[in-house]
Amino acid sequence: MKPAEKTALKRLLAQPQQIVIVTHWSPDGDAIGSSLGLWHYLRKKGHKVNVITPNDYPEFLHWMPGHKQVTDAQRDPGRAARLIARATLVFCLDFNDLKRINVLGKLVGESPAPKVLIDHHPQPDAFARFSLHEVKASSTAELVYEFMSLMGDQKLLDKHIANCLYVGIMTDTGSFRFPATTARTHAVVQHLMEAGAENSLNHNRIYDDNSESRIRLLGFALSEKLVVLPEFRTAFFALSHDEHERFHFQKGDTEGLVNYGLTMRGIVFAAFFAERDGIIKCSFRSKGKFDVNAFARENFSGGGHVNAAGGASQLSLNETVSKFRKLLPDYLAALNKA
Ligand code: 5GP
Ligand code: MN
Repeated sequence: MKPAEKTALKRLLAQPQQIVIVTHWSPDGDAIGSSLGLWHYLRKKGHKVNVITPNDYPEFLHWMPGHKQVTDAQRDPGRAARLIARATLVFCLDFNDLKRINVLGKLVGESPAPKVLIDHHPQPDAFARFSLHEVKASSTAELVYEFMSLMGDQKLLDKHIANCLYVGIMTDTGSFRFPATTARTHAVVQHLMEAGAENSLNHNRIYDDNSESRIRLLGFALSEKLVVLPEFRTAFFALSHDEHERFHFQKGDTEGLVNYGLTMRGIVFAAFFAERDGIIKCSFRSKGKFDVNAFARENFSGGGHVNAAGGASQLSLNETVSKFRKLLPDYLAALNKA
């Protein structure tokens, strides 16, 4: 953030504001952790603050402090619209293209309130007056910590904020193992733990909260659905609507499934295709230099990071898988270089 931007934003935040925090469609641990961490912080500073999500998020995030006040715009579009209309400041967290918040994009885009972007995805759209954007940051939650420091408010860090930001960093770094995890990330986590973040409890709350059917779905996917293409250093899963139903699918049940493909020796590219809500949701992960952000943008109207991206397909599940398989030869050189 440029010094002039910082000064202007500090001045704005010195007066009580009506703040809305929005995050991306199908929020994950970083989207919710960063949004709720910021929510606690800005409330402490004396602002009126509301978090709005475009849709619901998995139950394993519902324990987080502040969850109960979140407005799900799909469930309550009227309230979401009223809050955005009334806002004097809108924070946009963990996304940088208004398309990522679906129908909320129009409301936020048309709102005269200045926007503050806090995000770590590449290629940001220019809609924000203020921007704390760092592609190298492990997570948006890490950037919320940096934002508090920039505003001179490290002293306001408390256990609730620390737990929320810890969860954001932990989930987006695959528990501190992805390459985006830096020495700075660990230094931030040190401060969060000093402020009361419950590292071990947070792991249990997020990762040890599986239903039996989720674990059985994972077993089914691994033993029956995994397709391995060693010639392309690729592995993928595809799950039909009926297969989701058979295992009583709940939101979040297949989160992380795509990563199993990457745990195999020699595999650098993993994909997951899920037939849900009338479209095929696509998830892509890679190791090393193979750029799945580019792959998702070029072929599945999506985006994300170099090593983690997503998108969607309007084709049938089988057609989507065929399209994917046919694309692989075009990427063979890049896959071999990864
Ligand atoms: P996931 O596969 O977990 O849904 O998403 C992985 C990453 O890709 C996340 O950083 C997420 O924000 C991004 N992503 C997922 N789906 C889309 C999409 O449809 N469009 C864009 N631009 N990014 C996406
Ligand atoms: Mn993130």
